[in-house]
Amino acid sequence: MMPYVLDDTEKLIMDTVRAFARDRVKPRAADIDSTGEFPWDLVKEMGELGLMGVCLPEEYGGAGQSYVLFAMIVEELCAACATTGLILDVNISLCAEPILMYGTADQKRQFLTPLATGQKLGALAMTEPGAGSDAASIKTTAVRKGDHYVLNGTKTFITNGGVADTYVVTAVTDKEAGHRGISEFIVEKGMPGLSFGPPMHKMGICGSATTEVIFRDCVVPAANLLGAEGQGFKITMDTLDAGRIGVAAQAVGIARSALEDAIEYAAQRKQFGQTVTSFQAIQFMIADMATAIEAARLLTLQAAELRERHIPCTKESAMAKLFAGDTAMRVATDALQLFGGYGYMKEFPAERHMRDAKITQIYEGTNQVQRVVIARSLLGRG
Ligand SMILES: Cc1cc2nc3c(=O)[nH]c(=O)nc-3n(C[C@H](O)[C@H](O)[C@H](O)COP(=O)(O)OP(=O)(O)OC[C@H]3O[C@@H](n4cnc5c(N)ncnc54)[C@H](O)[C@@H]3O)c2cc1C
Repeated sequence: MMPYVLDDTEKLIMDTVRAFARDRVKPRAADIDSTGEFPWDLVKEMGELGLMGVCLPEEYGGAGQSYVLFAMIVEELCAACATTGLILDVNISLCAEPILMYGTADQKRQFLTPLATGQKLGALAMTEPGAGSDAASIKTTAVRKGDHYVLNGTKTFITNGGVADTYVVTAVTDKEAGHRGISEFIVEKGMPGLSFGPPMHKMGICGSATTEVIFRDCVVPAANLLGAEGQGFKITMDTLDAGRIGVAAQAVGIARSALEDAIEYAAQRKQFGQTVTSFQAIQFMIADMATAIEAARLLTLQAAELRERHIPCTKESAMAKLFAGDTAMRVATDALQLFGGYGYMKEFPAERHMRDAKITQIYEGTNQVQRVVIARSLLGRG
């Protein structure tokens, strides 16, 4: 039972999303996983359905819906195919959101509308080979030269890398100022000096594009500075507060799908003359999995509701991401166990769910880092 009561428009949108996920996305999930092919057709359809900017303002081409609805949509899509849900999630929460929060009116008009309508795809490029959890230790530089900046450096593990048109990028503008010397830029594909590494091969979310994003004397107009010089680290942290809600929603979707598949299988699998779901040991595993998923969803929607109301949610979004990510991994592992040996085989979806679940404990801050964030907000330590 959902504590959030949807209005008629939201119900209609969720009905549409459920039908799209069931009829168009889920049947493709195994293929996307095995071929690693980026699902351009599904991304195009999500754009046509108005989903790529579902929680962005209508004046910028979005559907003007809430962040709670966004989280529900990410769950629904990831339950069908984790890759497809991730692509939409990154477009909205990691690329459009920082532009919405910190962009000028001109920047919003120029960059948000194509992202919201699905004409363009977005990405966030923050991580570097030497700077992951310690996001303030980036080495990419941006030097002001007249009416433009020149960027040099390499970002790695960038989701939607190469396929995205619009990149929100962190770079150091003042080496002496520590994290206050980091600035944020909007970089577009085609700008001179921007290139991409080859696809990185991953254990899960296989159809999502992950590449290095490389800046070699990359010329970016000064008008593409997002926020003020030196504000980049804050913009990134604010972005991740919202972004982690998306990862939590991904995790809930993956876990839900893993459990649904396991119940379906176990309910018809017979051993000792009875279905394996008649064994209490199996029933208790199912009960524990379902309870954890429900709790993860509640934490996720709570954080989304805070975000929607512009109430600080650093702690709550970290808790949602931590709990949902750990739940997804545990549930996917237990769900595979319910399949017995068949769960270990590629013909069944259980092993895909397990591989997809793992990433939710890693990106947008590992779950160790989420614990650091939560403890810091409780103990008040910098
Ligand atoms: C598939 C994929 C997609 C990604 N997409 C993006 C993207 O779109 N944009 C982007 O910018 N980045 C992206 N990332 C990067 C991701 O956010 C980082 O990988 C993650 O933050 C961890 O950084 P790291 O890999 O450098 O690990 P490290 O920071 O080197 O961590 C190594 C280990 O040390 C632990 N650790 C580190 N610091 C602490 C601490 N203070 N306390 C306790 N433990 C600690 C970590 O939890 C981890 O277990 C992606 C990564 C992957 C794998």
